[in-house]
Amino acid sequence: AKAAGKDQATLYDVALRVEQAERMRLLERLRESVDAGEFAVHYQPIVSLDDDRPVAVEALVRWTPPGRPPISPDRFIPAAEDSGLIVVLGEWVLRQACADAVAWHRRWGTTLTVNVSPRQLVDPQFTTKALAALRDSGLPPQALTLEITEGVLVKAGPEAHQALLHLSALRSEGVRVAIDDFGTGYSSLAYLRDLPIDVLKIDRSFMPSDNTDTQQAALVRAIVDLAAGLGLTTVAEGVETADHADLLRDLGCERGQGYHFARPIPAAHLTALLADTDTD
Ligand code: C2E
Ligand code: CA
Ligand code: CA
Ligand code: CA
Repeated sequence: AKAAGKDQATLYDVALRVEQAERMRLLERLRESVDAGEFAVHYQPIVSLDDDRPVAVEALVRWTPPGRPPISPDRFIPAAEDSGLIVVLGEWVLRQACADAVAWHRRWGTTLTVNVSPRQLVDPQFTTKALAALRDSGLPPQALTLEITEGVLVKAGPEAHQALLHLSALRSEGVRVAIDDFGTGYSSLAYLRDLPIDVLKIDRSFMPSDNTDTQQAALVRAIVDLAAGLGLTTVAEGVETADHADLLRDLGCERGQGYHFARPIPAAHLTALLADTDTD
């Protein structure tokens, strides 16, 4: 039994080392790729559920190494976060997205929402960088929402404090703050009242699998009501079917995002899509 245990431990160590080596290689390629300009920002419409019109877009980064298929952010964002490289990548995404979105905002009033990682929010320069991205692009602060996950703000300590200072400073300039993947964390509800936030994005795991799934619908209803009571805007993620959209509309959810409306697409396609849905 002892020998078997030792073998297992060894196997585990090897597996871990292989994984670490792979992570290191990925990271090395990632670092070179930021320099080489191998990233692109795609945009997914967020629609008003009243009339299915796009009112905002979420910026979603794509890694596009030449001659290879694009690599999903789920595969490289964690490594970029661990290494701190996300600070550089995130700033690049924010600047690129503001630069792309300014034309959409001027023409159609479309607003922009950008994901911000916890590592970016402990960077003492974050507020300065975000305001510079806005100023350099000409996008008004009121047209930008930053998406953060609930974990960042609810942990006590200097990091959460720094994050709060950034968000409060940016909000006083007119930038809005959204809680991403709402409902997947462990935090208490009191923070919704106390924290500097404007929008709740209901995680896609709350979308019912079908019309008989009344428990999921009850949860979505509870979140929408809670948000409304607190004066927050709700956005449902993962709207994949017309049934989802109907349900959300019935529950009073204001906005939806998902494959039912549109997938994330390159900037040029998004311009065409907005021009297409523009009837005047
Ligand atoms: P997220 O912020 O929750 O973004 C939504 C994800 O759901 C996107 O995946 C989007 O393509 C996908 N999605 C949209 N509609 C649907 C739908 O109807 N059904 C399903 N099943 N999925 C849908 P994506 O683009 O692969 O991004 C994955 C995650 O990577 C994002 O999740 C976000 O956490 C992270 N991420 C992406 N871009 C950035 C970035 O610029 N900075 C940071 N820090 N994180 C990013
Ligand atoms: Ca997001
Ligand atoms: Ca999300
Ligand atoms: Ca997510």
